[in-house]
Amino acid sequence: MSADLSWRDSALCAQTDPEAYYPEVGGSAVPAKRTCMACPVTTECREYAVATGQRWGIWGGLTQRELRQLINQRTAA
Ligand code: SF4
Repeated sequence: MSADLSWRDSALCAQTDPEAYYPEVGGSAVPAKRTCMACPVTTECREYAVATGQRWGIWGGLTQRELRQLINQRTAA
């Protein structure tokens, strides 16, 4: 798969604590999601996560559960 990953250059999370994007079980996703809401590449990040089947962490403002729901919705459509 050849993908344009230039969106990563604008990733807001690169300027923050990366640990926040991989909260432990029971940990809060709120700080990461808050950053994602202000990120200029939320859509690109989310689509990358869907296309590559990311299984850990928060991508495009979505937790793993939300990401799986999105993938399931698209699969069902
Ligand atoms: S949407 Fe969130 S996880 Fe994705 S690049 Fe932006 S800040 Fe990082």
